[in-house]
Amino acid sequence: MTARRREMMRELGLAPRWRLRAKSKGVAPLPPIPAGSTSTTEPALALDERTTQIIRMDWPQLKESVAGCVACPLHRGRNKTVFGVGDESASWLFVGEGPGAEEDLKGEPFVGQAGKLLDNMLAAIKLKRGKDVYIANIVKCRPPGNRTPESLEAAQCEPYLHRQIELIKPKLIVALGKVAAVNLLRREASIASLRGKVHEYRGTPLIVTYHPAYLLRNLPGKAEAWVDLCFAVDTMRGLKSVPAAAI
Ligand code: SF4
Repeated sequence: MTARRREMMRELGLAPRWRLRAKSKGVAPLPPIPAGSTSTTEPALALDERTTQIIRMDWPQLKESVAGCVACPLHRGRNKTVFGVGDESASWLFVGEGPGAEEDLKGEPFVGQAGKLLDNMLAAIKLKRGKDVYIANIVKCRPPGNRTPESLEAAQCEPYLHRQIELIKPKLIVALGKVAAVNLLRREASIASLRGKVHEYRGTPLIVTYHPAYLLRNLPGKAEAWVDLCFAVDTMRGLKSVPAAAI
């Protein structure tokens, strides 16, 4: 382990427990998804006119559309929309809940303390923001007082995220926190019941872990998050060993 990684482990409050295994024997690369259990094949969205337009957009059109979006009440309180950031051909997509105060001012997801922790989590599994990694949120405008996005707000914003996912074509989605997970999977469930399994978002494998903001308040959760990150790495290894056409 390099000095830099040791430093990151200390930052995460996990040294010396957090070790990226060379290859886990305990977790199958990509477990088959039993019918009707962990797999979530959500019902198709009704394609209204707005959704139909969004699903045809390229990156510049999508960014322009989000920047001027007034499709839900969250636009009223925002300073900047937070579109998402990173490698637009990334293998890894991390999805959080919504912008906080700092993100709203800067227009970038996961800045501040939670963002620093996310960067350290990425670094612990040898990933880096912007390099084969894309980061986005369920909603692109800040909910007042950092409250949870309401279902209507999430639903109105979902076509943008869906189009981003179509354009990025990630190999694996990591849902950060319950709000991201239940919105992507379209079903209510506890985060405990969702962790440690490979789910699916419209054909793309998805796993669930805690939101970094939660981990800042709940130190014991960091060890569980590390288990999730190792599971994500193992899952990605399995995906990369499968020919692209078969994924
Ligand atoms: Fe539009 Fe999404 Fe912002 Fe709502 S949260 S105004 S749907 S960009």
